[in-house]
Amino acid sequence: MSALAYVALGSNLGDRRAHFRAAWEGLEQAEGVDVLRRSPVYQTPPVGPGPQEDYWNAVVEVKSERSAEDLLALLQALETARHRERTVRWGSRTLDLDLLLYGEEERDDPALTLPHPHLRERAFVLLPLADLLPHRVLRGRTVEDWLARCSLAGIVEVANPWG
Ligand code: AMP
Repeated sequence: MSALAYVALGSNLGDRRAHFRAAWEGLEQAEGVDVLRRSPVYQTPPVGPGPQEDYWNAVVEVKSERSAEDLLALLQALETARHRERTVRWGSRTLDLDLLLYGEEERDDPALTLPHPHLRERAFVLLPLADLLPHRVLRGRTVEDWLARCSLAGIVEVANPWG
């Protein structure tokens, strides 16, 4: 059995391009994961405490032969590999990988909530997800409708992010 899954990438510390490339390559090389599409990358203002750099955010679509738990375990291993780089300020993230959607699965487990619990409120996730999946319905509204309710202030597309 396989499922279409959507993974959010975020980074605001260190070499964001290198973190993104590592995440992309890690997904490409992983067994049981077929990377299908990636959204544009957006530079977005930080939401959170203290002075922080802008984030890069994107969403990747994969076909997963792995279970949702196994896919999350892979994402956490890829995060950990990048966290080994020196991080000074917590709050900032070298690489944050979230599982937004796994097929049609819905679950409330705190270790793995699906769809991702904050998906419907966050422009920095909805914007790249809408590039790939604008018509998916979440709690009675499409992704693009949820996006239309968010502010896009300060968000710009990154030119040639993977280059
Ligand atoms: P964060 O570092 O803020 O992304 O939070 C990671 C924590 O959220 C981990 O303990 C995960 O088990 C949990 N979690 C729950 N649902 C999800 C999800 N859909 N994707 C990623 N992490 C999740």
